[in-house]
Amino acid sequence: MKIDILTLFPEMFTPLETSIMGRAKKDGKIEINIINIRDYSTDKHKKCDDYTFGGGPGMLMMPQPIYDAIVAIDGYEKAHKIYMSPKGRVFSQGLSRQFAKNYDHLIILCGHYEGVDQRIIDLLIDEEISIGDYVLTGGELPAMVVVDAISRHIEGVLHSSDSTESESFEDGLLEYPQYTKPREFMGLTVPEILLSGDHGKIDKWRKEQAEEITKNRRPDIMEEN
Ligand code: SAM
Repeated sequence: MKIDILTLFPEMFTPLETSIMGRAKKDGKIEINIINIRDYSTDKHKKCDDYTFGGGPGMLMMPQPIYDAIVAIDGYEKAHKIYMSPKGRVFSQGLSRQFAKNYDHLIILCGHYEGVDQRIIDLLIDEEISIGDYVLTGGELPAMVVVDAISRHIEGVLHSSDSTESESFEDGLLEYPQYTKPREFMGLTVPEILLSGDHGKIDKWRKEQAEEITKNRRPDIMEEN
C-alpha cells in the first residue's frame, strides 16, 4: 500500500521510522511519503494560513498550497483521500481492516490551527475521519494512529510472532490476560491452567476470560457482533 501524508509539520512523523512500522517500510510492505504542504505555497513568504472570513479566533489553512500539493501526487484522482478531522467518521478496528482491504493508495491530509478551508474538503476529500471525540492541535498524531492501525492488516507487516488473531476487537471481544516469566512476581502467580500444557483447556479459559472482560468493560462491542 502507498500512503501519502500532507502536513505542515513533517518533522512530527519520526515514530513511523521505528519498530514494526519502520521494519514494514524497510521491507517494502508499505510506502509512506511525507509531503510538506509549505513547499507548494505560491506566496513569497511560503504562508499557508490566514484569518477566517466572517471573523472568529485562530487561523485557517489556505486552499492553494493544499490543492497544489494533492494534485501533484501521482494517481491522486484514484486514491482514497482522507482529511483527519474531529467532525469525521470515528475510526475503529473494523474501519482499519476495511481500508487495508479496499484501497492500495491513501492520501491523508492533516489539518492544523482551526483546520482547512472548506473548499478543499468539497473539491478533493472523499471522507473525513476522526480518531475520537476530543480535539487535538493537529491531524499529525491522528494520521499516525490511522496509518499504524491499517498497516497491521497488510500482509507481511506483522510477523507470525506478533499476529493479530486473538487481539482485542477481533471477534467482538477484548483480549484475555497474558503472562510471561517469572512464574511468580511480587507474590502473584501465573494461573495454573496456563502451565498445564493442555491447549484445549487453555483456549477455553482464554475465551471465558475474554468474554468476562468484554462483558464488564465493553458490552457494546459484544452486541455489535
Ligand atoms: N476547529 C476544528 C473543530 O472544531 O472541529 C478543530 C481544529 S483542530 C484544533 C486542528 C486539526 O487537528 C484538525 O484540522 C484536524 O486535522 C486535527 N484533529 C483534531 N482533533 C482530531 C480528531 N479527534 N480526529 C482527527 N483529527 C483531529
